[in-house]
Amino acid sequence: MIRANEHYKKLKASYLFSDIAKRVSAFSKQNPHREIIRLGIGDVTKALPSVCIDAFHRAVDEMAEDATFRGYGPEQGYDFLRQKIALVDFQARGVQIEADEIFISDGAKCDTGNIQELFAHDITIAIPDPVYPVYVDTNVMAGRTGENIDGRYGGLVYLESTEANGFVPALPDKPVDLIYLCFPNNPTGATASREQLKQWVDYAFKHKALILFDAAYECFIREADIPHSIFEIDGADEVAIEFRSLSKSAGFTGTRCAFTVIPKKCRVFDSQAMPVSLHPLWLRRQTTKFNGVSYPVQRAAEAVYSPEGQRQSRELTDYYLRNAGLIIDKMTALGFSCTGGVNAPYIWIKSTMDSWKIFDLLLEKAGVVCTPGSGFGTCGESYIRISAFNSYENVVKAMERIGMALS
Ligand code: PLP
Repeated sequence: MIRANEHYKKLKASYLFSDIAKRVSAFSKQNPHREIIRLGIGDVTKALPSVCIDAFHRAVDEMAEDATFRGYGPEQGYDFLRQKIALVDFQARGVQIEADEIFISDGAKCDTGNIQELFAHDITIAIPDPVYPVYVDTNVMAGRTGENIDGRYGGLVYLESTEANGFVPALPDKPVDLIYLCFPNNPTGATASREQLKQWVDYAFKHKALILFDAAYECFIREADIPHSIFEIDGADEVAIEFRSLSKSAGFTGTRCAFTVIPKKCRVFDSQAMPVSLHPLWLRRQTTKFNGVSYPVQRAAEAVYSPEGQRQSRELTDYYLRNAGLIIDKMTALGFSCTGGVNAPYIWIKSTMDSWKIFDLLLEKAGVVCTPGSGFGTCGESYIRISAFNSYENVVKAMERIGMALS
């Protein structure tokens, strides 16, 4: 008898954004003439930089000739892309990451989910609350949690990010083995200072733990003293790995290209507490289960790292940050307390209603889709996340409509 993975039963019936899509679609059916402005899911709306399109075209032409055609590429990514990433994203910022420590993939979503198969089953895991729901759900699927009781899974250590701690969680009060961190944070937009990240690195050394640092929104950091990478902290290359993505930095959400940095020095431990290098484990995993990102996509990604590509992608993130500034101004003027939106494309807004109630109110009265904060964890209750990913004109319109709906 073929039996199902029963851990899936513990999951909420559907993924947060599927729930939202269902509500929006039901609303649209009942109100076919209402125009809806989507400031919910974190999907970009602007076209790829023109340097990427040019590189894409050239790569597709190469695929059209036997002499330049490419079949299977290296599973860990082409060297031309890994070299540029190492240089531009790390070495130019004074961080010693080498090209062969970078693993190209088709998404930070899959990498953050897949990485856990490198770890023992009975480890203790700390996950921020609120945060990108993929970390919790993938651990539930893998059977590393108990049942969900009142929105929290047994066995997980929740790192509460609240107004009181500036949305940067305190160190856990009991030892944990694996720590997820996400800065700039989805959904709060909070960033961690150098001193705060150093405390986590020190903790990881003390408890022989590993940090999974998700820096998918690094490209939105504008304040000069905020670290862009956990590897800016001394010693972090022994106790942390980092996820990055071109989804938000260069509009690759539909094109798919991301990477995971696993320094050669990074260690985990075997059952005898002897250090084991993580790099060869992930290399083995990827070469066995993954056949690489397509050649044209990697050429398009490479173009992001040219001087012109850097300029064009900065223009994209600046565009969304301008939207974010407008959202902060308008929501603050309406009396809401807002965080984020300065080094991140998300604005985290506190309300007096429960999250789904304010979601429904904004949808019904303003035709604006946001994301209910409770979908990111119990600490997100009474909050909503408004995303800056839309056209400036739509954001202006959405803010006008919200203003009218709430006044
Ligand atoms: N990490 C965080 C924190 C995210 O918010 C997202 C997407 O919204 C991802 C990773 C997924 O990135 P990718 O598009 O590379 O899969």
